[in-house]
Amino acid sequence: MISGATRVAGVIGDPVRHSLSPVLHNAAFAALGLDWVFAAFEVPAGDGAVAVDAVRALGLGGLSVTMPHKSEVIPALDRLSPSAARLQSVNCIHWVGDDLVGESTDGPGFVSALRHDEGFSADGARVAVLGAGGAARAVVLALADAGASSIAVVNRSADRGAAAAALAPEVATAVAGTDDEAAAAAVRDADLVVNATSVGMAGTANEGEVPLDVSLLHGGQLVVDLVYHPLRTPLLVAARARGAVAVTGLGMLIHQAAFAFRLWTGEEPPLEVMSAAALGSLEQHR
Ligand code: NAP
Repeated sequence: MISGATRVAGVIGDPVRHSLSPVLHNAAFAALGLDWVFAAFEVPAGDGAVAVDAVRALGLGGLSVTMPHKSEVIPALDRLSPSAARLQSVNCIHWVGDDLVGESTDGPGFVSALRHDEGFSADGARVAVLGAGGAARAVVLALADAGASSIAVVNRSADRGAAAAALAPEVATAVAGTDDEAAAAAVRDADLVVNATSVGMAGTANEGEVPLDVSLLHGGQLVVDLVYHPLRTPLLVAARARGAVAVTGLGMLIHQAAFAFRLWTGEEPPLEVMSAAALGSLEQHR
C-alpha cells in the first residue's frame, strides 16, 4: 500500500514508457518489503536540469536517467562520481547527505555481471568493443579500470571511436570499422568481444543483422551483446554455434540497476527477483 511515508524513485527520459527500470525496481522493493515505489517520468529534451530540481523539491529517493538527459542533468547536480565525470554522463542520481550526486552505473554493472554470472575477470583480458556510443564508452572505462590488458574500440565513425579510446589511453586503441584487416585482427585475438552498437536491435533498420564477420569468432571467447531486445540476437546465436560463450545484455541491465538500488536504499538488491521480473516483461513484449 502506498502511504504518506512511501519513498518515490523514478526514471526520466524521452521516450521512457518502454523502460524496464520500473519493473526491476518495483519487483525488488516488493521482495524486500521496502516502502518504496518507482515510476517513469516522460521529460522532454531540454528539461533534464528542471527534473533534477524537482528531485530536490519533492524529496525523491533517487532517479535513473536515460536518453536524452544523461549529460543534460550534470549542471544541476552538486557533484559527480569520478567515472561519471570522466564520461560526462549520468544514469543514476542519489543523495549523499544533502548533496545530489551523479553516478554512471552501466560500466560497473557490465563488469559485475560478467564476474557474477560468468565467473569472468577482466584483469589481463584482451577485449574488442564494437561501437563508441554511450554504452561502449562506459564499458571501455570500466574494463580499463578492471585491469583489461588491451581494448580495441572498433567503430564505424573514426572520430567517435578515437574519443572512446581516449578514455583509457594506456590500454585502448581505436580501430576504424572501415579498416577490415585491423578490425578482424582485433576480434579474432580478443578474449572478450562486446557488441555495444545498436546493430541487431529489434525495431531498427539493422534488426536481424550482425555487427561483425562471425567467422572470426571461436571457442575460448566470451561474446556479449548489449542489445537485449531481442535477448537472443543473431550475433549470440552465431557466437554459440562457433563454440564461443554467448552472453546476453540482460546481466548488465540487472547489475547497473542493482548498483543504483544499493545507492538509493542501502539494501542488497535481490538479483534473482530483478532478473525474473525483467525476463517476464521482455517475454510479454516479444
Ligand atoms: P548510441 O550512443 O546511439 O551509440 C550507437 C553505436 O552504434 C555507435 O557507436 C554507432 O556508430 C553504432 N552503430 C549504429 N548503427 C550502426 C550500423 N548500422 N553499423 C555500425 N555501427 C552502428 O547508443 P548506446 O546508448 O551506446 O546503446 C548501444 C546499444 O546498447 C543499444 O542497443 C542499447 O539498447 C544497448 N544498451 C544496453 C544496455 C544494457 O544494460 N544491456 C545498456 C546501455 C545500452 P557511429 O558512432 O558510427 O554512429
